[in-house]
Amino acid sequence: MVGVPSEISGEAAFARLFQLGPDGTEYRLLSRGGVAASRFRGSRLLTVSPEAVARLAEVAFAEVSHLFRTTHLESVRAILDDPEASPNDRFVAMELLKNAVISAAAQFPSCQDTGTAIVVGKKGDRAFVDGDLYDALCTGIARVWQTRNLRFSQMAPLTMYEEKNTGTNLPAQIDVEAVPGHALDFLFIAKGGGSANKTFLYQETRRVLEPDRLLAFLDEKIRTLGTAACPPYHLAIVVGGLSAEQTLKTVKLASTRALDTLPTTGDITGRAFRDLAMERKVHALTRKLGLGAQFGGKYFCHDVRVVRLPRHGGSLPIGIGVSCSADRQVKGRIDSNGVWLEKLETDPARFLPTVELAAATPTPIDLDRPMEEIRAALSALPVAAPVLLSGTMVVARDLVHAELAKRLAAGEPLPAYMRDHPIYYAGPAKTPEGFASGSFGPTTAARMDPYVPPFQAAGGSLVTIAKGNRARPVREACAAHGGFYLGSIGGAAAVLGQDVIKSIELIDYADFGMEAVWRIRVENFPAFIIIDDKGNDFFSTMLG
Ligand code: SF4
Repeated sequence: MVGVPSEISGEAAFARLFQLGPDGTEYRLLSRGGVAASRFRGSRLLTVSPEAVARLAEVAFAEVSHLFRTTHLESVRAILDDPEASPNDRFVAMELLKNAVISAAAQFPSCQDTGTAIVVGKKGDRAFVDGDLYDALCTGIARVWQTRNLRFSQMAPLTMYEEKNTGTNLPAQIDVEAVPGHALDFLFIAKGGGSANKTFLYQETRRVLEPDRLLAFLDEKIRTLGTAACPPYHLAIVVGGLSAEQTLKTVKLASTRALDTLPTTGDITGRAFRDLAMERKVHALTRKLGLGAQFGGKYFCHDVRVVRLPRHGGSLPIGIGVSCSADRQVKGRIDSNGVWLEKLETDPARFLPTVELAAATPTPIDLDRPMEEIRAALSALPVAAPVLLSGTMVVARDLVHAELAKRLAAGEPLPAYMRDHPIYYAGPAKTPEGFASGSFGPTTAARMDPYVPPFQAAGGSLVTIAKGNRARPVREACAAHGGFYLGSIGGAAAVLGQDVIKSIELIDYADFGMEAVWRIRVENFPAFIIIDDKGNDFFSTMLG
């Protein structure tokens, strides 16, 4: 014990870092098959068939693609009931609830980005899978993406610069930890790209650990999250960590509320704890940002989790991340009584209001008029004004923009479709039988920012539609060329797929799969003016 301070010698020095309380999750039984309990040298053992694991993963990812937790939907509904919520907050909340109702019918996933499959497992040291656990989980995941109307999002690197969609949505991220016991516990997360992109690590110093400095630091960093990951967010902040990766993994788990039962005080062992007072302060801070639920207001975040971790004296990692409006996680468990899955809400319609609530009143815009007239109609409205778009749009995103930029640089003109119609940055999920389109929400506009100035100078992309905030050059290009950027509601993709998109036709770059160019016809497509032709940007004052 030489050199070890007496207060950290003894048993407490070996306490577990994450001391979670009892699991209050409500589960439903999926099956009693595939599990067998036995005894070996007096100890209870559990043997699990690979098919039981595969089936659990399959049902978990199928359900989480369509259903939400009841607590999440309660939070969305609370926005409608809050007299301090802005009309735009209420408009977004209403669309998200309608989206949940459509997606619960199990045809349209709640979001077109059906995510990367992530499995965080805890395997009891007396629980045996009679086969390969990794293979079993992948089998279940592959079945879901093959058989349902989901989207394949995983790109395999063939070389450093060449990529191809794997066509299965695999690989999945699978992390399984060994723990004492005779059960298997899983957290299945379907994490969208836009949501994952809003995960940040900051390597800070002890100097930040002062009340005013820490809040000022968080205020600055939370603003940088912007709205591209479709607020309202479940925001998670982790201060400390024994490594950068531990900090970020803790962010991920806290954003899913998997760490809610941590202690709420620290101790000399260095255990992780939730700082509830800090959570309240940060939540209050987010309500004053003005960003609201995407288009101005109070509801940037549903809630905030702040976890404090121990750290090396020479490091202070701070992690920030979100769970987005596609708040998709579900717990699973296999024990001697069977295979269990967390109960999700199957009747989201009960959260819809029974009376009409005051919300923003949108202005209809006819997209079948010449581009000049569309722009004149938009020009008469202020930023943050809601609009309802009807008519023709062209869908194009990352790969097409990269190709068209090459053509433009080689002296070729932009195709007429880029000049004649508003450009919607998006990529659809698979189309359910009997419908015109699959879930088809907006992707993050910022990825297309570099293309806006040259495309607008060439007469194209004069009205763009997507989600999130954009860089200053886009604002400047819109002011110079009479352009507009409209924000579409992120996270309400099933509503668009079922009710708004009336036809979809592939018109160019067919080999790009879901990233091809599509002509779509829409009716009453909701959007908000974010950047106008006068150089106004709704987000610029709030995000700096
Ligand atoms: S809700 Fe938004 S951030 Fe979340 S998965 Fe869908 S598009 Fe991505």
